[in-house]
Amino acid sequence: MSDRTCRRCGERWDAYGIQHGDMTADEAAKFNKGLGCPACEFGTKCTNCYGTGFEPVFTDWANMCKKCLGKHYMIYAWGQRSNRWHHAGRYVAPPEPALKMKRLDRFPNDYEDWIEDWKVRCPDCSGDPCHECNGTGKFVQTADATDPA
Ligand SMILES: [Zn+2]
Ligand SMILES: [Zn+2]
Ligand SMILES: [Zn+2]
Repeated sequence: MSDRTCRRCGERWDAYGIQHGDMTADEAAKFNKGLGCPACEFGTKCTNCYGTGFEPVFTDWANMCKKCLGKHYMIYAWGQRSNRWHHAGRYVAPPEPALKMKRLDRFPNDYEDWIEDWKVRCPDCSGDPCHECNGTGKFVQTADATDPA
């Protein structure tokens, strides 16, 4: 049952789940103050395009992009020593600068010296700029995101 609504993005949450694993204690505290939820990354990420800035074009499972499974982004790893990109256990073409979004993490590695995880826009379903955030990927307050409780 979804009985709580994020006051910033309108995402529905289950009150029991909020206290029991859907959110960390910190996240639940922020949610209860109306500061957002993990879906909108606490009011920083556009929930229409998942922060990619591109209009989602796949609306159902059958037509969904198989590459990113409809998320419009993927996590690529970059190895410093090889200077190559990996995804799902394979080498992949380096993402274009425009497709590279954000470095998520960086950690030491025996073979590569350093591995970096990057959030990368899906090259297969990146299309028109998102109508909600105008392609910025940033959070947009929607008019109907009010908590009835
Ligand atoms: Zn939210
Ligand atoms: Zn957007
Ligand atoms: Zn895709």
